[in-house]
Amino acid sequence: MSAFKAVVIDKNQSGQSVAIRSFDEADLMDGDVTVRVSHSTLNYKDGLAITGKAPVVRRFPMIPGVDLAGIVEASSNPEFKPGDAVVLNGWGLGETHLGAYAEKVRVKGDWLIPLPQGLSAEQAMAIGTAGYTAMLCLMALERHGLSPERGPAIVTGAVGGVGSVAVALLAKAGWHVIASTGRPEEADYLKGLGATEILDRGELAGQPRPLAKERWAAGVDTVGSTTLANVLSMTKYGGAIAACGLAGGMDLPATVAPFILRNVALLGVDSVMAPKALRIEAWNRIARELDHDTLAAMTTVIPLDQVLEAGQKIVDGRIKGRVVVEVA
Ligand code: NDP
Repeated sequence: MSAFKAVVIDKNQSGQSVAIRSFDEADLMDGDVTVRVSHSTLNYKDGLAITGKAPVVRRFPMIPGVDLAGIVEASSNPEFKPGDAVVLNGWGLGETHLGAYAEKVRVKGDWLIPLPQGLSAEQAMAIGTAGYTAMLCLMALERHGLSPERGPAIVTGAVGGVGSVAVALLAKAGWHVIASTGRPEEADYLKGLGATEILDRGELAGQPRPLAKERWAAGVDTVGSTTLANVLSMTKYGGAIAACGLAGGMDLPATVAPFILRNVALLGVDSVMAPKALRIEAWNRIARELDHDTLAAMTTVIPLDQVLEAGQKIVDGRIKGRVVVEVA
């Protein structure tokens, strides 16, 4: 196929526009592996790219989509051959390199990992960057020496993609999970994923105090800003919070009090440039530890044609769990 279907973001003097249209294979970027994409997914960053709400796209035209699962079509990379099932998360896909909302991508083989054993392409994209980031957060907490005996773990933005997987993974690992959400009507959904308690996110939205009553030993924060400042102020002595998101804002109106008076740690988590060995470890653990029925319960599948609408919904905070995009 010399032309294929793709979501394309263009920019001209009147601004950014996005449409589903034909894209010429000759315009693909450099890379040593060509992949026929079967599935992608919807992450918050994809919503930012589609809507133009934040400048995540740094080259035009751009095909958004930071995650893909597919089959290698051609390869001059010794690690991959035609027919191999592969997954790619991040590495600038959909930001600086033409991304996954397309029937075809050309990428560096170094960015690809084999589809983890025991997962279908659709399941791998139900996990996607959001799920793999949730696992990176759990691994960061464990590396810090934390375990469920130390006390509860909080997850903020719990109904969202990263939050939903984090709730499920922490619960499976034996944590008492406190799920913070602005959608109390989703309490049954969160309990189904393994949450023990539901916390109204309004309780984390007030002016943060330097220190507040100690409530949890660990946490995964997808919201940032005032929420993260409040979460830190309520973290038990010696606890840690893995911070990966900014759905509520990029600022952090906190004091150093939790760090210097309670020995609390703030653990930064990035998925985009994470080294390959860490990615493979995270994916293998997800494949082993994330219950397939739980994953299915948090997943919606949409065709590529609906991804523009879904992109608006995710930046509006109206997406529940994970969204798989069927590309093929
Ligand atoms: P979602 O939109 O699916 O989830 C975000 C959730 O945050 C919402 O569902 C909502 O949860 C909550 N939320 C949204 N707006 C606000 C607000 N103003 N105040 C408080 N809570 C809010 O996004 P994802 O789960 O895909 O991503 C979450 C964050 O993690 C994003 O900022 C994303 O950019 C970041 N991220 C970072 C990665 C990394 O490598 N560091 C990788 C992947 C994601 P609820 O309805 O339950 O209140």
